[in-house]
Amino acid sequence: MPTALITGITGQDGAYLSKLLLDKGYEVYGLLRRSASADIIGERLRWIGVLDQVKLIDGNLTDLSSLIRIVQTVKPDEVYNLAAQSFVAASWQQPLLTAQVTGVGPVNIMEALRIVRPEARFYQASSSEMFGKIQDKIQSETTPFYPRSPYGAAKLYAHWMTINYRESFGMFACSGILFNHESPLRGIEFVTRKITDGVARIKLGLARELTLGNLEAKRDWGHARDYVQAMWLMLQQDKADDYVVATNRTTSIREFCRMAFAHVGLDYHEFVRSSADLMRPAEVDVLLGDASKAREHLGWTPKIPLEQTVGDMVEADLARHRARTSVQMPTEASLLHELS
Ligand code: NDP
Ligand code: GDP
Repeated sequence: MPTALITGITGQDGAYLSKLLLDKGYEVYGLLRRSASADIIGERLRWIGVLDQVKLIDGNLTDLSSLIRIVQTVKPDEVYNLAAQSFVAASWQQPLLTAQVTGVGPVNIMEALRIVRPEARFYQASSSEMFGKIQDKIQSETTPFYPRSPYGAAKLYAHWMTINYRESFGMFACSGILFNHESPLRGIEFVTRKITDGVARIKLGLARELTLGNLEAKRDWGHARDYVQAMWLMLQQDKADDYVVATNRTTSIREFCRMAFAHVGLDYHEFVRSSADLMRPAEVDVLLGDASKAREHLGWTPKIPLEQTVGDMVEADLARHRARTSVQMPTEASLLHELS
C-alpha cells in the first residue's frame, strides 16, 4: 500500500485528493496545523466522507523541525504540498506571511525530504496567478511569468525552487500550474463560492443583495475533482516535469453571476452590485490556459463542465443554509439559561 502525505489536507483540494488516493488504496496522512477551532477544522474531510480514514499529524509548513519529524514518522512515497496562504486578496494585507508560507514553506518541505527521504515524489501546487499580467493570450508551460500580487510572487519562487531541487538534487519534484478550480468545498472568500453562497441566501430570503468587486475579470475555471486527478498523474510518470492544468475556456465574473442566479430562476442584475472597496491594488484581468501537454503526456482532460460546477455549488449552498435555518444550534446564553 503506497503512503501519501498531503499538506493542506483540510483545504478544498486536500479533501478531493484524500478521497482520490484512499479510493486507490493509499494510506493517507495529512499535515494539520494546530488551531483553537480543531473541532471544525475537518469539515471538508467530513463532507467528502473521509475524515475517519485519513491520519492527521500535527505540524506547520513554516516549522522545518515539524516537517522533518513528520517525514521521519510517515515515510511517504508521495508528498503533495497543497498548503498555502492561498487567497490573493489577503496577500496584500499579509505579504510577509504569504512569503513565508506560500513561498518558503514548499522549500521547508523539500529540505525535509532531501534530508530524510529524497526518494519520495513531490508535487508543488503552483498557480496560474504566476502568469498575472499575461504575456501570451493563451498561457502554457512556456509562457513568461508576470505575477501581480504577493501571492503570485511567492508561488513563483516556490515554482522555481521545485525545478531547482529537481535539477540540483535529482529529486522527483513536479510543479503543477493549476488554473482556478472550484467546487462546493471552495473557500467562502473566493468569488465563485461568495456568489453561490449569495445566491442561496437571496433565494432563501436571508439576504437582499450581493456586493462584489471587479465583475469584468475572467478566469479559466475547472472543477477540483478533475484537477486532483492531474496532480496524482504527474507523480505516476517516469520523469518529473511541470504541467499546466486548465479547461481552455474563460468566463467573466459577471457571466458566472448570470449562471448562478439563473440556476434558481433569478436575474443577477437585480441583486449584484460592484463596489470600488473590493477592487484589488493590481488585477489579473484574464486567464486562459492551454493544457495540451497534460493531455498528451498524462492523458488528462477536464470532465466536469462549468455549468455543472455552478449548479452543484448553488445546490450545496442552498442545502447548507436550509440546514442552518432549520436546526438552531443552542447559543451559550440559551445553554446557561437551561442550566440555571
Ligand atoms: P485552501 O485555501 O482551501 O487550503 C489551504 C490549505 O493550506 C488549508 O488546509 C490550510 O489549513 C493550509 N495551510 C495554510 N497555512 C498553513 C501552514 N502554515 N501550515 C500548514 N498548513 C497550512 O486551498 P485550495 O485547496 O483551494 O488550494 C490548494 C493549493 O493549490 C494551494 O496551495 C493553492 O494556493 C493552490 N492553488 C489553488 C488553486 C485553486 O483554484 N483552488 C489554483 C492554483 C493553485 P487550515 O485549514 O488550517 O487553514
Ligand atoms: P483568484 O483568481 O485566485 O484571485 O480567485 P478569486 O476567486 O479570489 O478572484 C477571482 C477574480 O474575481 C479576481 O479577478 C477578483 O478581483 C474578482 N472578484 C470580483 N469580486 C470579488 C469578490 O468579491 N471577492 C473575490 N474573492 N474576488 C472578486
